[in-house]
Amino acid sequence: MTRILIIYTGGTIGMVNDSGSGVLKPLDFGQILENVPELNRLNYQITVHSFHPIIDSSNMTPEIWVDLAEKIEERYDEFDGFVILHGSDTMAFTASALSFMLEGLNKPVVFTGSQLPIGQIRTDAKENLITALEIASAKLPDGKARVPEVCIYFDFQLFRGNRSFKYNSAKFEAFRSPNYPVLAEAGVHLRFNDASIRTCDDCVFKVHKRLNNAIAVLKLYPGISRQAVEAIVHSDTRAIIMETFGAGNTTTDQWFLDCLHIAIKSGKIILDISQCKVGMVELGRYETSRELKNMGVVNGYDMTYEAAVTKLMFLLGRGFTNDRIAQLLETNLRGELSNNVNNTLYLKRNTLY
Ligand code: ASP
Repeated sequence: MTRILIIYTGGTIGMVNDSGSGVLKPLDFGQILENVPELNRLNYQITVHSFHPIIDSSNMTPEIWVDLAEKIEERYDEFDGFVILHGSDTMAFTASALSFMLEGLNKPVVFTGSQLPIGQIRTDAKENLITALEIASAKLPDGKARVPEVCIYFDFQLFRGNRSFKYNSAKFEAFRSPNYPVLAEAGVHLRFNDASIRTCDDCVFKVHKRLNNAIAVLKLYPGISRQAVEAIVHSDTRAIIMETFGAGNTTTDQWFLDCLHIAIKSGKIILDISQCKVGMVELGRYETSRELKNMGVVNGYDMTYEAAVTKLMFLLGRGFTNDRIAQLLETNLRGELSNNVNNTLYLKRNTLY
């Protein structure tokens, strides 16, 4: 019988309206199960582990990512797959973080949650949970896991975790992954997009538990002041994620370029990702990014913001030199980036956004 471990961290899926204040607050998992008697009809052996405290995912921390990774490591051999119940607000960050922390994964780690609590009549929680369990237990004819990836299942679609982001806080369709195809779609049939699923034959499973959050984010806008840029660039951090315009472009004002140059010379890593959700950074394509390339700004290609944040925390935590970090940031480690323009153009034409 297929064995699945459900790890419950919190989120709307398990919340109820507090009778006094009316705000949504997390419940313990026993009460969630009462709302899904269908689980008893699934032919899986399901074990549940609840985190304490149960949290709204806006309170998620890198320490809890380490606890989650350790829990999976501890029970890796006992189970065929893992389903993580998690709030949708920061689900894409946690899924991205775990994709880097769990090296050589050959079992599914499926994140899901819901937009409405499981006890509400119109809830999306039951479908999300039941199909996430099916995905976590799906096998190929040779007995290997069908989706040995960290992924997110939400509203009938399965996404690669480190390619997705929360897109909508009001619709059931909460997530998107515009630069990478969906891994599966659930309709009358559960259809897997096998060609886009990463497989890892002969992989050695290894869990990385050191994360370093010494990063800051510089989001550009026309008219950004020198003080604002300097405050971030000279903050006490090792790396800066710079969210740029279009294909990785910035102002060419000399004070701005000097600021970045000084920061790099003083040992900071600057990673360029785009504010656009589709397409990729192409350093040197325009005059407005040529200087960035020359001074050693790192190309983030089509990485999501969530993947960039967690990949940096992961690489800084490994204690690598800046050169090595820069090289690995531009390398596809867990399917988080396409560093090939043709590939992205292909995906752009073939992905619904
Ligand atoms: N605030 C909630 C959370 O992220 C939203 C959700 O679960 O969808 O925990």
